[in-house]
Amino acid sequence: MAASQPTVLVVEDEPAQREVLAYNLEAEGFRVVKAENGEDALMSVAEENPDIIVLDWMLPSVSGIEVCRQLKTRNETRGVPIIMLSARSEEVDKVRGLETGADDYVVKPYSLVELMARVRAQLRRTRPATVGERLEYEDIVLDAETHRVTRGGDPLKLGPTEFRLLSTFMEKPGRVWSREQLLDRVWGRDIYVDTRTVDVHIGRLRKALTRQGGSDPLRTVRGAGYALG
Ligand code: CA
Repeated sequence: MAASQPTVLVVEDEPAQREVLAYNLEAEGFRVVKAENGEDALMSVAEENPDIIVLDWMLPSVSGIEVCRQLKTRNETRGVPIIMLSARSEEVDKVRGLETGADDYVVKPYSLVELMARVRAQLRRTRPATVGERLEYEDIVLDAETHRVTRGGDPLKLGPTEFRLLSTFMEKPGRVWSREQLLDRVWGRDIYVDTRTVDVHIGRLRKALTRQGGSDPLRTVRGAGYALG
């Protein structure tokens, strides 16, 4: 089930702070990737495709602000929420932090409980299925907490891969996903799976969704991939 865990990239140059943060995020059920400087952070974003970034402001060489600015100007990473951490509480810093496109801002020393709540709040907005939200699309309801799916009120039986596929689609109805993007999101980057496997599981998902006679909500987009609706 690793791929349904949201990945948090923690960027912090202080080892003790980085470890405490990583430990607590892992205890909350997140997959954690760590970076100790800005260059590592930018590389990790490209390699690990994180769902959210907790980014320290004061980093050696490339600052947190610069990392944030770079990520927010790129199309592929613009949508990834960034929570900035800073030891400076002056209002002017806060404004600068938000102007670079950071989605939230937490002043050190922060309460871990509060930081966790803010991480979840960002994910509820961008990756609702990963934090146990209930998703609806037409007559399909997916409860990410109980892992139950119904269509027209009738329970559907889905395997774990079909469940993750459907939650990916339901987080962004209408979005066209390529097979490679679905592999990243549903199977995870570290696992080698042939893109044809995606087609097999899409087939199973379609079968489950239409078993009770409903119309097929999944769309095959020739040369591009699949979409819900
Ligand atoms: Ca620092």
